[in-house]
Amino acid sequence: MARKESLLSLRAILVRRRDALRSALAGDLTLLKELRSESPGDVIDAAYDSAQDEISSQLAEVESRELAHIENALDRMKVGKYGVCEVCNGKIPMVRLHALPYATMCIDCQRESERSGGIRREVEERSEEAVGGELEL
Ligand SMILES: [Zn+2]
Repeated sequence: MARKESLLSLRAILVRRRDALRSALAGDLTLLKELRSESPGDVIDAAYDSAQDEISSQLAEVESRELAHIENALDRMKVGKYGVCEVCNGKIPMVRLHALPYATMCIDCQRESERSGGIRREVEERSEEAVGGELEL
């Protein structure tokens, strides 16, 4: 599959996940449970197990953090920077994006930032208009 097509499929995944997380944070777990059955074993899954299907404050925190990552990734798609490492500007390999669709750093830079104590970037509140725009790659 061409990189552009892969990116489009990742975008669809991110959008579905974003919608599911938004619903979950609003108290509706239906969408998230549907996604969960498709991709078992992720971080939300683990949070669910420990929360025993109740929305604990810990789960809400995980969800809202992931939601911020996803919205950031969708913003980057909108400006054509998705899949580009924000540290070294190199292309992030597709295999990494499939494993972590909202990755903003290549593996080398990720490791570097973890070794140096981690780069903590706050993702600001995103407006509704910031997502769902034209995908330009
Ligand atoms: Zn990099």
